[in-house]
Amino acid sequence: MEQRRQAARGVLAIERSAIIKLSIAALALLGAGVITWRSLGPSGNGDNAEKYDETRTRWLCLEASCKKEFTLSTAELGAFYRDHEDQNPACPACKKQNTARASRCESCKKFYVPKHEPPPQGQRPKPPSCPNCGKPVR
Ligand SMILES: [Zn+2]
Ligand SMILES: [Zn+2]
Repeated sequence: MEQRRQAARGVLAIERSAIIKLSIAALALLGAGVITWRSLGPSGNGDNAEKYDETRTRWLCLEASCKKEFTLSTAELGAFYRDHEDQNPACPACKKQNTARASRCESCKKFYVPKHEPPPQGQRPKPPSCPNCGKPVR
């Protein structure tokens, strides 16, 4: 009886050390994954930095299959307008000029095109809200 109990304890101990080894391996994998993700990240991070750069103008591609968010510096936009008066800059993803000047929602961080619809007669204008998350926007 005593022997069997000891054997059971032995198995438990082995299982425990196996679990610890497995979780260390999993953590190492996770760490490696994070490092790879970070080292692959510069373009993504750069993109994000541009999205949050308040000096850049924000644009949204209106193509239903694209909806790319992109930004242009005021210098880039100025240069574009010099050559293409009354046109919108082309989307960097689908190259179409079906784009609109956008704002960024402070809640969901997505770009949206502000709408300036006049309110129905006799009604007060609704506070503008984000089309993505519905939260009020400035
Ligand atoms: Zn596009
Ligand atoms: Zn939002």
